[in-house]
Amino acid sequence: MWKRKKRARPARPLPLELCDLCGTTFPADGAVRGYVPDSSAVHPANDWFDGLRRVTACCEEHLAAVREEYEGRAFVPEELWAAKIDRALSGGIRFLTMERLGCRTGLQEPQIRRAIAWHNAHLGQRHGP
Ligand SMILES: [Zn+2]
Repeated sequence: MWKRKKRARPARPLPLELCDLCGTTFPADGAVRGYVPDSSAVHPANDWFDGLRRVTACCEEHLAAVREEYEGRAFVPEELWAAKIDRALSGGIRFLTMERLGCRTGLQEPQIRRAIAWHNAHLGQRHGP
């Protein structure tokens, strides 16, 4: 078997994670992770994860507290549909017909209309944490 010479790697600082509850930073390998329902979250590539937000905490107790916080929030389908439309229109695409938008988002036309209405009503209120 061909054996490679072990090369000394330059010492790199470990990537740090941030606890979503207390804001403590800690090495990524010590993170406790989970998913919480969040209608404002869509996955950039995999729509299987739409409506779920990945959360990171420093310990199980803090992950449980973050989960509890999200469980108290309203899950608004229109918000999720709007986020899906937003993703479909990203990457330089400015306009899609209702049919094409339906294909790209998997939404029905009435859902798209409700999402647009929701989006317009909440314009400027989003982009918070
Ligand atoms: Zn914490």
